[in-house]
Amino acid sequence: MVDLRIGLGYDIHRLEEPGEKIVLGGVEIPYHKHWVAHSDGDILIHAVIDALFGALGERDIGSHFPDKDPRYKGADSRRLLVETMKCVGQRGFEVVNIDTTVIMEEPKIGPYVDEIKSSLSPLLGIPQERVSVKAKTNEKIGEVGENRASQAYAVVLLRSKL
Ligand code: MG
Repeated sequence: MVDLRIGLGYDIHRLEEPGEKIVLGGVEIPYHKHWVAHSDGDILIHAVIDALFGALGERDIGSHFPDKDPRYKGADSRRLLVETMKCVGQRGFEVVNIDTTVIMEEPKIGPYVDEIKSSLSPLLGIPQERVSVKAKTNEKIGEVGENRASQAYAVVLLRSKL
């Protein structure tokens, strides 16, 4: 019998000046602010990692990759996702699909969505059509709408390996 597991992930990081780029889903996007973070601040990958650990019934990204740990200072979050996917495989699971939403006022993410999907799909071991990346603004409301922070949500479905 196929064992299915669902997981939810969320992340938020403050946006501050100055900056040259942000990294979203492993894709560099030129921008004049940066995300305040111990790692590269990739909110999308962090939300996906939390969703994966959530589906496994494990604790969150911070307990697996502590932000006090110098090994993760400035870390490329794709490396953390690779480590997370090793856990998924070791527990006998594989990804069916993921759905994500990124909420940020600036910069516009639409032109980068295809590149982000092709960045994430090999890391997750699924074809691009099973990776959904949706981008929206917060309608200028609150800290996200005032462009002082950015948010990401992710839902992932796992199934036991065939
Ligand atoms: Mg984070």
